[in-house]
Amino acid sequence: MSLITVGTMAFDAIETPFGKINQIVGGSATYVAYAASHFVKPVQQISIVGDDFPKEEMEEMKKRGVEMEGVEIVPDKKSFFWSGRYHEDMNSRDTLITDLNVLADFDPTIPESYQGAEFLMLGNLAPKIQLNVIQELKKRPKLIVMDTMNFWMEIAMAELKIVLKYVDMLMVNDAEARQLTGQFSLVKAAKSIMEMGPKFLIIKKGEHGALLFHGDQVFFAPALPLEEVFDPTGAGDTFAGGFMGHLAATNDISFENMKRAIIVGSAMASFCVEKFGPTRLKEITRKDIDIRIHQFKDLVSFDIELI
Ligand code: AMP
Repeated sequence: MSLITVGTMAFDAIETPFGKINQIVGGSATYVAYAASHFVKPVQQISIVGDDFPKEEMEEMKKRGVEMEGVEIVPDKKSFFWSGRYHEDMNSRDTLITDLNVLADFDPTIPESYQGAEFLMLGNLAPKIQLNVIQELKKRPKLIVMDTMNFWMEIAMAELKIVLKYVDMLMVNDAEARQLTGQFSLVKAAKSIMEMGPKFLIIKKGEHGALLFHGDQVFFAPALPLEEVFDPTGAGDTFAGGFMGHLAATNDISFENMKRAIIVGSAMASFCVEKFGPTRLKEITRKDIDIRIHQFKDLVSFDIELI
């Protein structure tokens, strides 16, 4: 089954309590594609970059089955740039700079070869662009999942609420769920988001795992307790890539299979945070991933005799 991923391909500058890097490749679609390509091929990428974006990175993605026909390269312009600084707890961060650059005029056209894809991951991006992509698809994918962040809630809340009506699932972190609804209780926030459009919702809680909501059903997946989190950048997008990669590879969008997908997403995210940027996602093998998924199984499985 094919998967379309839409999002940023970027340069990031990152500061954590453990180190600092002034320029590394990042972007929501970069992380999603690297994670998803471990499970499904092709991953059909839609994004925009300037001519400063490294050709080797594009080649590396192509080698992994990521199709680049939908990635526009704009001559003499700069790629999207984001810079962030993490707090001591590594669960929260401040955005220092968001330079849209090429993203400011992005109006994606969908290559003919992408039409008919069954899965669509709308990675973090301007809501208007996310909506354009949905409307340009001739056949509605069987599952449309959307990510977003505080940045877009602050400058494009009305547009974001329109996109919500068209998607099957929203993926946000706890702070974003609260910001979107004004509700502190995540259960109340979940109900209110599901009334805005999506039938499924994932709320990510960083090192405290993730919740999957659908109607009255709730499932919780922990995050792997790691000795050291080096750089959490892209963990959310990597989670999304693992989640969608698993669903697309198995072609099964039941709630039961989404429970497995959330574990796969959590396993992928646990690799992402081990090194700066997407570095770890390029190093790991299928065997590493399987071992880690088993660790997750062991983490939460127990026997109990009810008396
Ligand atoms: P995450 O840590 O999962 O939220 O993802 C971080 C990645 O998202 C970085 O690589 C950034 O380049 C990218 N990013 C940051 N801000 C935005 C934004 N406003 N829109 C799209 N992508 C962004």
